[in-house]
Amino acid sequence: MIKKVFKNPKQYNIEMDPKDITFMKSGFNNLVEENEVIENTGSVVMVFMQNAMQSADIYVRHAKRKEITPEDIKRGLMLEVFFMKNRPNMLEKCEEMKQTIKDIIRDEQENGETYYLDEEEDEEGNEEFSESKCQCAMCNCFNTIYSRWENFTPQLPMEHILVKAINEI
Ligand SMILES: [Zn+2]
Repeated sequence: MIKKVFKNPKQYNIEMDPKDITFMKSGFNNLVEENEVIENTGSVVMVFMQNAMQSADIYVRHAKRKEITPEDIKRGLMLEVFFMKNRPNMLEKCEEMKQTIKDIIRDEQENGETYYLDEEEDEEGNEEFSESKCQCAMCNCFNTIYSRWENFTPQLPMEHILVKAINEI
């Protein structure tokens, strides 16, 4: 699922209501143009995924495993739902990502080429998920994420969407 989104960023932002990113509104005022909405939504989604993947990557290393499994990604995404609001540089990152998306779109328009991220050959993952034995805060969060998740009541529209999507993984 992650890969699909990265390969085809356009796919994601078609049906999202601009209201769903109101939690970012301090930086994204007056969403007038449709393109602007698509770029804003896209940037939030991409930053969200990037953060989740980074956490999953750290967790896997602490668990002394070599490959990120779907379960690591799922837990990383869950954790990011909790982290999202408290990330101090979220807005900045989204602005950066927005610029990247703009560049991709412009590049596509100029060259008529679809943008692909480096296609990593999927070496079939043999490694299975196992919980980290490490005692650090990150590993602790990953290990106990399901109990936090079950007690979580989404409030923001964006949270509702994310919770629904993650539960289906
Ligand atoms: Zn750890």
